[in-house]
Amino acid sequence: MWEDPVQIQFADDMQEFTKFPTKTGRRSLSRSISQSSTDSYSSAASYTDSSDDEVSPREKQQTNSKGSSNFCVKNIKQAEFGRREIEIAEQDMSALISLRKRAQGEKPLAGAKIVGCTHITAQTAVLIETLCALGAQCRWSACNIYSTQNEVAAALAEAGVAVFAWKGESEDDFWWCIDRCVNMDGWQANMILDDGGDLTHWVYKKYPNVFKKIRGIVEESVTGVHRLYQLSKAGKLCVPAMNVNDSVTKQKFDNLYCCRESILDGLKRTTDVMFGGKQVVVCGYGEVGKGCCAALKALGAIVYITEIDPICALQACMDGFRVVKLNEVIRQVDVVITCTGNKNVVTREHLDRMKNSCIVCNMGHSNTEIDVTSLRTPELTWERVRSQVDHVIWPDGKRVVLLAEGRLLNLSCSTVPTFVLSITATTQALALIELYNAPEGRYKQDVYLLPKKMDEYVASLHLPSFDAHLTELTDDQAKYLGLNKNGPFKPNYYRY
Ligand code: NAD
Repeated sequence: MWEDPVQIQFADDMQEFTKFPTKTGRRSLSRSISQSSTDSYSSAASYTDSSDDEVSPREKQQTNSKGSSNFCVKNIKQAEFGRREIEIAEQDMSALISLRKRAQGEKPLAGAKIVGCTHITAQTAVLIETLCALGAQCRWSACNIYSTQNEVAAALAEAGVAVFAWKGESEDDFWWCIDRCVNMDGWQANMILDDGGDLTHWVYKKYPNVFKKIRGIVEESVTGVHRLYQLSKAGKLCVPAMNVNDSVTKQKFDNLYCCRESILDGLKRTTDVMFGGKQVVVCGYGEVGKGCCAALKALGAIVYITEIDPICALQACMDGFRVVKLNEVIRQVDVVITCTGNKNVVTREHLDRMKNSCIVCNMGHSNTEIDVTSLRTPELTWERVRSQVDHVIWPDGKRVVLLAEGRLLNLSCSTVPTFVLSITATTQALALIELYNAPEGRYKQDVYLLPKKMDEYVASLHLPSFDAHLTELTDDQAKYLGLNKNGPFKPNYYRY
């Protein structure tokens, strides 16, 4: 359907796929010490409070109005409320809805059996329902134990989607939900949509035979994509995979603008902090870091950056930020934000040296960036002061304010802008359509970027929302630039 894709380079690192930490990796430890840590979430990301019902969804017998019990959600009775949330999201996802309408007759996903693992929010529900409208059958679990909007999961279950997810899952629940999606008698997935790589990891580990039928994997996150390149480099990737994260319409919009809009929201809802004149250190000046810094700077915060990459460090300098080592500023800063996609960026040593009331949070995908486990020692006291806010208290009375136990702040503690998620969701839908319909041989057992024309198409679908009017090349101009009048308009190496 689109031009031949460009194959991109593998990452250098050769770590074993199975050695990656997961976002739930420290769940059991934190559970044993902070009993209340999942008990009363009422963050803005979900309007339902899980404390209303302490029975695990796994132990409940629930059926939707059509008599189906092919799902596991917190409370199916919240479906109507969730449906309203989905309808609100649809209003700002007109491009995805327009794709749904355009392709509904054609049904490009007829016969597709998609197993998905993403955040389960109103916006992803619009994506899932679009995939269903285009002919797919879907089974879905959550890629994060806190980010599920319970009412939305209920609405999906009511609409007939096999969804297994609730807010505040334990680690065991997390893998159980993934397993229920994959391991189903009489139903075998032929496509994977993953965010973070945990689903892909589970299939590799437990059900490698499933890959015989899988036509492709679409992966959204930096972390998951990294895992895929490692698999590919080790010669273990047995199906084609589409790296959606590095498509321009994902990376330059979701990572950058989504975080620019949601970082302050997450911090303010949890702490009521004022940013004017505050000293903030942001670890990592990639897309997410750039977005966070732009928002913090606009409110008058004094922002420091830590970076390992000289190019990103130079960008930070040119944007007017001081590039420092974390050790140099850790005693003086009021807020520490990680967005590296890396691990142990903030260590116990850093935490020991922070000043009283320092706020610590993470915007990266996994809970690996802040060494939260190192804070589970007998001399430190944990006090849950609000939903998703822990005070960790040192023997001398010093308090560090830890948000969402080191999990990604915006998805755990605030809402994220629907419009940006529409761009990502449209990109994911098109990637699935492309991989599912690609003729034999177009994609090998490797990791691919989305064809440039598809990226441009996603952007063009979103322009009407702004009443933006694109200029068309004249024949003469197109000839002069050596371009097709209909695109692609940039070479693949263009960086935007
Ligand atoms: P990126 O690769 O563009 O940026 C990460 C930056 O961190 C890089 O510049 C890298 O050099 C730097 N870095 C790595 N290790 C470091 C260290 N020890 N100290 C300082 N800097 C270090 O990636 P990105 O697109 O900015 O994504 C970052 C993370 O955020 C990923 O985990 C991604 O999945 C996640 N993400 C979160 C959201 C959200 O809504 N919160 C949205 C998109 C992506």
